[in-house]
Amino acid sequence: MGKVIGIDLGTTNSVVAVYESKNPGIILTQDGDRTLPSVVAFTQNEERLVGNPAKSQLITNPENTVYSVKRLMGKRFSELEPFLDQFSYSIVKGPKDTLKIKTKDKLFSPEEISAMILEKLKEASELYLGSRVESAIITVPAYFNDSQRKATRDAGEIAGLQVTRIINEPTAAALAFSLDLKKKSKIVVYDFGGGTIDVSFLEVDKEIIKVIATAGNSNLGGNDIDILLSNLLISEFKDEYGTDLSKNKLAVQRIRDAAEIAKKELSSLDACEINLPFMADSSEGPIHLLRYISRTEFENLILEKIEETIEIMEFLLNNANIEKSDIQEILMVGGSTRIPLVQAKVNNFFKKEPNKKINPDEIVALGAAMQGAITKGETKDMLLLDVTPLSLGVKTYGGSFSRIVEANTTIPTDRSLVFSTVEDNQSEVEINVYQGEREIAEENKLLGKFSLRGINPAPKGLPRIEVNLNININGILTVTAIDLSSKQKKEVAISNSGLLSESEITELKKEGEKYKRADLERKEAISKKASIYNHIYSIDQFISNMKLEPEIQDECKNALDEAHRVIEKEKTEEMDETIKKLQEMNNRLTSLYKTVIENIPQKEIKPVEDEKSSDSTKKVETRPLQYLKEKKKEVEEPNLKKPDTNPIQSTKNK
Ligand code: AMP
Repeated sequence: MGKVIGIDLGTTNSVVAVYESKNPGIILTQDGDRTLPSVVAFTQNEERLVGNPAKSQLITNPENTVYSVKRLMGKRFSELEPFLDQFSYSIVKGPKDTLKIKTKDKLFSPEEISAMILEKLKEASELYLGSRVESAIITVPAYFNDSQRKATRDAGEIAGLQVTRIINEPTAAALAFSLDLKKKSKIVVYDFGGGTIDVSFLEVDKEIIKVIATAGNSNLGGNDIDILLSNLLISEFKDEYGTDLSKNKLAVQRIRDAAEIAKKELSSLDACEINLPFMADSSEGPIHLLRYISRTEFENLILEKIEETIEIMEFLLNNANIEKSDIQEILMVGGSTRIPLVQAKVNNFFKKEPNKKINPDEIVALGAAMQGAITKGETKDMLLLDVTPLSLGVKTYGGSFSRIVEANTTIPTDRSLVFSTVEDNQSEVEINVYQGEREIAEENKLLGKFSLRGINPAPKGLPRIEVNLNININGILTVTAIDLSSKQKKEVAISNSGLLSESEITELKKEGEKYKRADLERKEAISKKASIYNHIYSIDQFISNMKLEPEIQDECKNALDEAHRVIEKEKTEEMDETIKKLQEMNNRLTSLYKTVIENIPQKEIKPVEDEKSSDSTKKVETRPLQYLKEKKKEVEEPNLKKPDTNPIQSTKNK
């Protein structure tokens, strides 16, 4: 196997690096640049351009010039529909709510366009290394969901690269910086790029970098700042000259370009001039757009957006239960961290200077190259560990959410829980997989569902159905359900449609906090109800299988009627009392039952022919006895009790 290159496939720019002579280094593009604009253009004479030449087409050929394709990766058309006016090229609906990029008369998937950028980087690497390159590590924002990761991987494959691993951008940044880190440190990676903001809290311990928690927003980046400034210019132009430029794609693109240039200039200057000649015509001749803007005015314009990024950081640290003062290193990644206001706000938040030694454009690709070297065993074993952003689990009886993998669990991970049925002889259960922090499953996001069939007939609560969630190194989730008795098994990789966007994740985390108490109360009520139903079932079994004294039988029936009434009222305090009463009744019936069993002479129940006799005492040697034996076992093995009080919902309509 040749070299494994590291690629930062960015929204605005992409970078490729390789590990050589014990160090990762940037590979120059065919144009001799350190970064490649992530832009692909299709010209009038059927030419395909990638990088700088494509970027120059943005103004003259905006409909056929594709930029920010990273924002489209793994997205459904309906998800993106509200944002379509932010793109100067046409995005149309494909089959099954997929999206396609329409340039001239051709349709492309976002993966195909990304593959063109990757191909260019692959070619540059081959030119530099003088040998074929077949494998790559590609980075993605930490909150890229499953379908976005898959799309990135597919893009790599289309470009003829075997994608050895997809790693998170902040993780890559920390890895590249790790040589400078102390053996044990806590770091924050603040990654503010063209399209996204990602903040991660990581711990470095000896050779292990562990992402403890991440948060972010995939719809907040430098592009949004450009749009803010462009919108200001467009609205001022309209106020002054009565011409609305917002419908003129060419004009919008020119303004956006100028806004980005001004933004960058304001990172080093106190003021700058935006000068766009011939923006519109009037009776008095052409109108030019000329605007002087100071850094202070620009900062006021973008302040809210920058504060949003600081709120995300605050939320992250609160969530991870970590004090700002415990953070030893703050790594600033992404081009937008060059904005002085961003640096000031981060500095002010931590009361500490962020690290200035690193190049925010290159560090991610360098980290990816280091991971490539680790994969090939070329460098010491620095292990990379990532976390799941939200809890994952299944819906259980009554609608509760049973967590199997807690939020911020290090991946790869493999966790199981055992559940049971809610009806006698239930042959099928439905596994509904959710992601979120709410205690009620349906308040979370449904990732997928499937049925496990062929469960051996048994009284409710007896079958043991193990549900396993496996998240692999690339963050891809596989759910397996297995009936431990019949060994029936079903395995499902969670489909693309499911997992959450970064902003959804942040929103769900906040909601989880907000509703924590109310949810816990609802969950408690559900669990109490389940407990009452279990007792009712058990007492019913006694009534129908034992010859009870009439007054005991009446007592039981009254208690059951009362229990049904309490369940209907849904009052948790009354449920406690009812559970207690039913428990006592169950205990009494169990001891009565034991006395009956002990008084049966052995020989009467053993011979087969005796079982056919009409002696009522032998009735007990039927299923309920087995059932009670099992119940006793559960009490002795408290670990197995959980499934019974928390059974999976039946697939049958109840
Ligand atoms: P990235 O996604 O990391 O390549 O970052 C690209 C974003 O950084 C774009 O929105 C750029 O406009 C922005 N950017 C690059 N350089 C600067 C700069 N000097 N000042 C402000 N923003 C910048």
